[in-house]
Amino acid sequence: MDEYIDRFIAYFKQQQELDVPPHIFSNSFSLSSISSGKIRSAENQPALLKTAMMPGGEHSPRHAIGSKQAARPLPAHIFMRNHGGASASKPRPQSAKRTKLADLFHETKKCQKCPLGSIRRRFVFGTGNPDALFMVIGEAPGEEEDRKGLPFVGAAGDLLTKILAAIDIDRLRHTFISNIIKCRPPNNRNPEPGEILACSNLLARQIEIIAPKALLLLGRVAAHTLLDSTESIAGLRERNGLHFYKGIPAFVTYHPAALLRNDAYRRPAWEDMQKLQKVLKDSGVYDVTT
Ligand code: URA
Repeated sequence: MDEYIDRFIAYFKQQQELDVPPHIFSNSFSLSSISSGKIRSAENQPALLKTAMMPGGEHSPRHAIGSKQAARPLPAHIFMRNHGGASASKPRPQSAKRTKLADLFHETKKCQKCPLGSIRRRFVFGTGNPDALFMVIGEAPGEEEDRKGLPFVGAAGDLLTKILAAIDIDRLRHTFISNIIKCRPPNNRNPEPGEILACSNLLARQIEIIAPKALLLLGRVAAHTLLDSTESIAGLRERNGLHFYKGIPAFVTYHPAALLRNDAYRRPAWEDMQKLQKVLKDSGVYDVTT
């Protein structure tokens, strides 16, 4: 238990230094899970995750990271087991990427470049491991995301967590997740071109800082924006679904919200994930230890 208290203190010292809300860098560790010694990460989730993607597979928010149970989030790095070998009582050194992302967060968190800035509840910067080599890009925050200030924490987010876990990607450790735009459009309508343009520099800078070895683009808005294309997702999935954004391999698949609406997308999405997994293995995405 002392080990957890030491880590807890180290974490708060770091947060003070960066002055970033705790949820930005790998959230979803609850105080109850710490005190019971159990960590709520995808790697601890049972095999049911692997079936979540298959047609007819169960989608159970009860088990999901980002669900209501994950109150009082804390960053994963500090509490992750088998993580880099630093002793429990030593603060984890700030990585350059973490510091740069924190600076970018502070620079942009009050953004008013488009009208969505004045109607949002929370600015949804992104979340995850700044040292991850894999980025997942969605479309825009929904209602739950707007309320919590975190991407992919609603029903689509629960499914995304399971999809990633099915290919052994822990969203806390192996990814940084963000969206094309950072504020919720009213009634979850599609982002407008002006809104996408207003946010484009911020996303480009996030990608530049993280320098991922692979991107996963979820749905039409993410794919069209980053690939400068107007093709359908079905068309973009051809040729192995592999494209490039500024030289970074970028995979396209259906948005998890589309999978929730239409079971028929689950099998192709599962095939996409299997192709993606091979590239992620070759790119060292699973080897991240920070
Ligand atoms: N859909 C998205 O594209 N992003 C989110 O954060 C949530 C739902």
